[in-house]
Amino acid sequence: MHNPQQHHSLIAQTPGHTPLALASSLQEMASSPTLAINEVVAARRAAGRKTIHLGFGEASFPLHPLLNEAMARAAKHTGYAPVAGIPSLRKAIAAYLERTRGLAFTPDQIIVAPGSKPLLYTLLQALEGDLLLPVPSWVSYAPHARLAGRRVIPVETGASDHHRLTPQTLSETLARARFEGANPRILIVNTPGNPTGSMFSGEDTQAIAHWSRERGITLISDEIYAELAHGWRAHVSPAQFYPEGCIVTGGLSKAFSAGGWRLGYAALPGGTASKQLMASLRALASEIWSSATTPVQEAAVVAYSSTAELTSYVKASARIHAYAVSRLYETLAEAGALCPRPAGGFYLYPDFAPWRDALLERGVTTSEQLAHYLLDHWDIAALPGTAFGEPPQALRLRLATSMLYTLAEAETENEREEVLWAMLAQAEKWPEGDAHNEMAIEMPALEQARTSLRAFIASLG
Ligand code: PMP
Ligand code: GLU
Repeated sequence: MHNPQQHHSLIAQTPGHTPLALASSLQEMASSPTLAINEVVAARRAAGRKTIHLGFGEASFPLHPLLNEAMARAAKHTGYAPVAGIPSLRKAIAAYLERTRGLAFTPDQIIVAPGSKPLLYTLLQALEGDLLLPVPSWVSYAPHARLAGRRVIPVETGASDHHRLTPQTLSETLARARFEGANPRILIVNTPGNPTGSMFSGEDTQAIAHWSRERGITLISDEIYAELAHGWRAHVSPAQFYPEGCIVTGGLSKAFSAGGWRLGYAALPGGTASKQLMASLRALASEIWSSATTPVQEAAVVAYSSTAELTSYVKASARIHAYAVSRLYETLAEAGALCPRPAGGFYLYPDFAPWRDALLERGVTTSEQLAHYLLDHWDIAALPGTAFGEPPQALRLRLATSMLYTLAEAETENEREEVLWAMLAQAEKWPEGDAHNEMAIEMPALEQARTSLRAFIASLG
């Protein structure tokens, strides 16, 4: 007769049959370093430890009232939106890309999602081939590619020429990758870039687009920082030169300081192949997130309508990011750190190689150890170069300035907003171009970061 107890013990003994066992492909996967450091800083602060937060890149100006009002008007719209986005938003984004970047997309070539991050991931799921990925580059591209079962082929870039990506390096990398059995078919570029803040020149952008076109490589151009160019280099989209093979992504997170709204887009080329790609993205979206939040989409229509008020809000926030970055850049350059001068966004990427010996004496030989050392001994949170694909021994850190505009301690939300609105009003009056580097703005947290970094570097001798 069947004995249930005996049956149970037999199953329990079967190797591998423990509950909650992880898939082997995910056992090594940790939380994304950007979001992880943000939580580390929050926990330290909650425990009363002051921390200079250079770890997380989040544009955090107060929401523009026009977006706030649009969101309030739409809050009751609780129905699901169409998978690719509401028609008015897709139309507004197409028009925005035409107006601001001279790119011709029709609304049916636009798809929106809860952030550009899931779109970047689903693009790598949907497109054929392995990924050519410049080093350093943003933390999530490589994990996305690996989750999608693609090989990641690093393309080396260097600080000495502002991380240029040249056809020669691309060709050499492609040849080597093919020789090793990979099938590179996709290249991601990000200008202005995270983590370096570098921007490609117009000529280099054109050369990268032509190189990709000649080889039938799909170019994904992550332009989420496009609106945040600092003024001494213009943003040029490679889609201008390769409209049939370049996908442009972006969203509300950086220019409109609304990362938590989770709204991003991808603009796909025209043509039959692209229609199939859109169908595939819609299919993936419909199985994973269904649609982006409906009221957020309705408010985003306003964001992408570029009224004069919104345009000057975005411009003023870009100026403040530029100001903070250039202050910190000065500090690093004066102290002798090797650091490409950022041209956009809110990141810096210094190299502490000049102090390798002094750091070795402190037991620091890798960027990860350096990041830990800074947090433990100097209360400075930063991300190690390894998070961006660098080899462990490269003593590079990514510093984000965007959390330094107000003091973290003892501030109400209203006080914080007041300070930031005053800052935006001040920046709106600055002259055109990159003369705002000469202006002065009161940012105690930034000054504290400068002082601490200066002291840290001085302590290394
Ligand atoms: N690309 C880059 C380079 C980023 O820094 C970010 C923000 N972390 C994203 C894409 C994704 O932004 P979101 O999902 O908020 O659109
Ligand atoms: N863009 C931010 C950063 O690189 C964080 C948000 C994210 O990674 O999703 O710090």
